[in-house]
Amino acid sequence: MINLRIEIDQLPLAEPLVVRLCHSATSATTENDAVLIDRSNGRLEYDLNGFSLVLHPEGGEDYDGDVILALPGQASAHRLIRASSQHNTFLVTEQCDQLCVMCSQPPKKQHTDLFSQFAEAALLSPKGVVIGISGGEPLLHKSRLFDMLRAVSQARPDVTFHVLTNGQHFQPSDVEAMLEIGTQRVLWGVPLYSADEATHDKIVGKSGAFRQLAKGLGVLMSGGASVELRTVVMRQNVAGLADLADFVFTRLNFAHVWALMQMERIGYGRMNWQKSFYDSSADFAPIASAIDLSVARGIDVSLYNFPLCSVPAAYRSYAPSTISDWKRKYLDFCSQCDRRAACGGFFEWYSHNEGFSALGPI
Ligand code: SF4
Repeated sequence: MINLRIEIDQLPLAEPLVVRLCHSATSATTENDAVLIDRSNGRLEYDLNGFSLVLHPEGGEDYDGDVILALPGQASAHRLIRASSQHNTFLVTEQCDQLCVMCSQPPKKQHTDLFSQFAEAALLSPKGVVIGISGGEPLLHKSRLFDMLRAVSQARPDVTFHVLTNGQHFQPSDVEAMLEIGTQRVLWGVPLYSADEATHDKIVGKSGAFRQLAKGLGVLMSGGASVELRTVVMRQNVAGLADLADFVFTRLNFAHVWALMQMERIGYGRMNWQKSFYDSSADFAPIASAIDLSVARGIDVSLYNFPLCSVPAAYRSYAPSTISDWKRKYLDFCSQCDRRAACGGFFEWYSHNEGFSALGPI
């Protein structure tokens, strides 16, 4: 697991500070750039506009081009952008208005507004980066979110976003902002767990959520937005996957992709693991049916977070490596597997004792 916090010598900050780490003076072009001046005794010292910024890295990672966020009173910084990684995500809020049984990031009441700092970090990111936006529910702070997306989109046409949202908060009046930001600049990842209203509402812990989601998806469709439908496969909804495939085809075929996902064993996902985890290595048939139905009708379908050996050979082409590098691991038997390079492995918090029953090298 890669630590997304890094120890620093505490700075006397009055407000949050965004810094890009530059290991060569020639790449320092903004006042947020700190230039490496010393690397000794396990510490990295940077010059930031005449001040010293000292990092105490854990491993031998390369920090050149990374963007960090230092907060007042803290002796560690958040690694917002890792320049060498394809997996950079801003957690913009921990507030949410749903209580999903498998939530990996259970909601909290308080919110700290760091949208300005996130925008600064995005502007300092490497060329062509895709930045994930997650929560909580980012659209609880919709105007701040849209302001950030708009500002970055205008200044950095090469940066795109993948925003995870519960789809509860879109209004027809948002279409104007979405068009201004650019429909190709944002992929909206929206969860839908069942074609059955009651099942969906029960999974997300909110009465009326399915109907509100239908309205939200309608807004996204009318704005020509790019949409990724996301369905975590669980014991609660696996029997309805074929119906959901029908629903996606008949009602939501404007979506760019329908992602069938495996659970993360963390947060509420850990609390509810025994009742919710669906062992797709033991019985892949319901998932296979949903894929077959979708592919036959021209719906792009994908499997996220499935170890390759949990998927029958005929369906492995639908299972890209999707688990972020910083939270990915492999098990002992993976060292004998020919497909390891193509396989996304497991979440760091996966426990094989309670997990898939039929895995092994392929
Ligand atoms: S054995 Fe490991 S590396 Fe190979 S497919 Fe299974 S999980 Fe992936």
